[in-house]
Amino acid sequence: MKPSPFEISCPGSLDAAHKALHENPRGTRIISGGQSLGPMLNLRLARPSRLVDVTGLSGLAEIRQTDSHVEIGAAVTHARIEDGEVPDPIPGMLRHVAAGIAYRAVRNRGTIGGSLCHADPAADWVTAMTALGATLLVRDGSGGAREIPMSGFMLGAYRTSMAEDEILTTVRVPRHSDRARWGYYKICRKVGEFADAIAGFVADPESRVCRVVFGSTGGAPLVSTELAQQIATTGAVPPLDTVKTVLRDSGLTLSDVKIHQLAIAHSRAVTEALSDA
Ligand SMILES: Cc1cc2nc3c(=O)[nH]c(=O)nc-3n(C[C@H](O)[C@H](O)[C@H](O)COP(=O)(O)OP(=O)(O)OC[C@H]3O[C@@H](n4cnc5c(N)ncnc54)[C@H](O)[C@@H]3O)c2cc1C
Repeated sequence: MKPSPFEISCPGSLDAAHKALHENPRGTRIISGGQSLGPMLNLRLARPSRLVDVTGLSGLAEIRQTDSHVEIGAAVTHARIEDGEVPDPIPGMLRHVAAGIAYRAVRNRGTIGGSLCHADPAADWVTAMTALGATLLVRDGSGGAREIPMSGFMLGAYRTSMAEDEILTTVRVPRHSDRARWGYYKICRKVGEFADAIAGFVADPESRVCRVVFGSTGGAPLVSTELAQQIATTGAVPPLDTVKTVLRDSGLTLSDVKIHQLAIAHSRAVTEALSDA
């Protein structure tokens, strides 16, 4: 199938991109790497009359660091992160997550911002950035800026708290201390596929952060404060049955197979993090 006809523009500034979107938010879509939107256009699941390409906007391709944060432009590709261009807010985690996304051709074009905005429940960055406590910086409909914590960003499968005339500009990730530990485990049938189950774990004794996040649950990532508290208190990997009970009691509709996969992913992620301590 071929896409419906559309115009494409490559604005020279964020203001111009915002203006183009604001003129006709319903009929316009931002395009970044096109790795998710491209197939949707070809299948006519999306039929915008205009695409606004943000990959050439200098602000969106930038990477900055401050004493407290690493800021990744929304149009930074998975490949740049995999290649270590982004200073790690916690040693090794971003490169590990990026390298596990699809295969290199997809990573060369796909962007962190596109992945977050697409909000596929099985995608990697939505889970990893929730575990890292990231905040998203957005150019809002009136041309101002607003911040959305990752914990409130994804509302469900392919749904976010961004309005249709907003543009994600930056992913701001807090820097963790040298004592921080992380684990990230993704179960998928074949290399290069989306995950059947993901578990992310980040703990930093200095900032008293301990987060357990499950991904590929069919909706937004599931954050378990109960498991995080248990790990912080005992310093041990919770038994599989405990994790399964937490997942069963989460209120999500999860099959027994999914619960088993998520529990295994969690066990491997936390083991990886704690064995490194
Ligand atoms: C074969 C294949 C395998 C894949 N496997 C994985 C995997 O294992 N794990 C994984 O996480 N992902 C996977 N992906 C998805 C890939 O990571 C995509 O790069 C990503 O989902 C979308 O990023 P993109 O830059 O291509 O966004 P696009 O396709 O350009 O856009 C996606 C959506 O985000 C919106 N958007 C993009 N940028 C912005 C912005 N700055 N502000 C507002 N809205 C914006 C677009 O309007 C569109 O709705 C796979 C893709 C393919 C094709």
